[in-house]
Amino acid sequence: MKYHIWTEGCQMNVADSQRVGSALEHLGYSQTEIPAEADVIVLNTCVVRQSAEDKAYGRLSSFRPLKQQNPGLVINLMGCLVGVKGHEKLKARFPYVDVFSPPSDPGPLIAHLTQGEIRSMENAETTRRFLTMDEELILPVSERGQLVSAHVPVVYGCSHACTYCIIPYQRGIERSRPVGDIIAEIRSLAAQGVKEITLLGQIVDRYGKDIADGPNLAGLLRLAHEVDGIERLRFLTSHPNYFGEDLLEAVAELPKVMPHFEIPIQAGDDTVLENMRRGYTQQDYRRLVEKIRARIPDCSIATDIIVGFPGETEAQFMQTFQVLADLKLDVAHLARYSMRAGTVATRRMVDDVSDEEKMRRFRLLEELQENVVAEINGKYLGESVPVLFEEKVKGRWKGRTPTNKLVFVESDSDLRGKILPATITWTGPWSMQATLQRQAALLSF
Ligand code: SAH
Repeated sequence: MKYHIWTEGCQMNVADSQRVGSALEHLGYSQTEIPAEADVIVLNTCVVRQSAEDKAYGRLSSFRPLKQQNPGLVINLMGCLVGVKGHEKLKARFPYVDVFSPPSDPGPLIAHLTQGEIRSMENAETTRRFLTMDEELILPVSERGQLVSAHVPVVYGCSHACTYCIIPYQRGIERSRPVGDIIAEIRSLAAQGVKEITLLGQIVDRYGKDIADGPNLAGLLRLAHEVDGIERLRFLTSHPNYFGEDLLEAVAELPKVMPHFEIPIQAGDDTVLENMRRGYTQQDYRRLVEKIRARIPDCSIATDIIVGFPGETEAQFMQTFQVLADLKLDVAHLARYSMRAGTVATRRMVDDVSDEEKMRRFRLLEELQENVVAEINGKYLGESVPVLFEEKVKGRWKGRTPTNKLVFVESDSDLRGKILPATITWTGPWSMQATLQRQAALLSF
């Protein structure tokens, strides 16, 4: 029995897909990259922008002929296209879909696959655990265990309600996972050989705010830091308003917590920020970046930006340009504003920046950022940095620096899961090349 998973969107979806994979492997399925070979196909979808939604529909339609050829095939539509509020319309529109699952919930698929035919005691126990859901009981198995780096959700949903964003509607209100479940999952991953854990939440620095007597994110990092076998910890995505002193201290003090931050600014103009209901000003953001850099000088900071938000003028856009030019951040995830059904921006504002203009603004930031990143990365040339290697891609080992820079190294040795000092020999805006220090020593003879 085989399963095929197609995943789009954020790291949370990647983590959710890994969970579904684990659940299916518990039931005796093995993974295939070829949809036509599969007995179960899972489409884990994203709707954060129209382009993502279109892609999900396109992929779903492409599976229809497979279902016609093989009526026994189980098609599971999962994630933000399904959402948490019922799926009657989708069911009518896509009758060939067998199972609909909200984000982060393998339950409906497992229930569908195991109904009426529980074949072994092991299956019975697995099924009971999935169905009593208690989704926290889902323990990762082999598929995730082969990973060097795994994602662990710590906060589900989001209650912030930025005016452009559909995520709170599709993923539901903010729910932090109990600390015991998270640490148990990290221990289990460590026991299977995982070296790096990234804690996930839409606003990860709000972790624990909905649980009385539990730790906050700083406290959670301190607990995760104690887990033997885990060598690196990361967390994303942070919201500037919740990024507290204690979190900064935890990152600065704990050697396993990597000096890398994902903190979206979204726009550099205060009126636009207010219309987005982000809750801070560009000065607040600039001060936060200064504070972080003062405490952790060699850190890297990534941000997200939306261009062409309703009403964004040229002058307002140039504020965003200026903030990016001044702050010189390591990564900027750029997006063109996309109207999402049901959001405040769609109900109360006019999507009045043309597609061409959005594209022009996007390109300006892209070009600016490319230069900024080339300059930042250029400073790594000749430096020795500890790289955690993950996998071999097209003959080269792929790994990451503490600051999350992508590094490629040529080596015949098995570097998987190892942290080794590497000397950077070439840098570009998106990746770097390096030699392992032993190789470098040989070359210099
Ligand atoms: N929860 C995270 C990010 C979630 S979505 C946060 O708080 O930032 C990832 C990114 O998609 C967002 O940071 C934003 O830049 C972008 N995005 C969200 N809604 C969008 C929309 N309607 N149009 C364009 N980009 C959007």
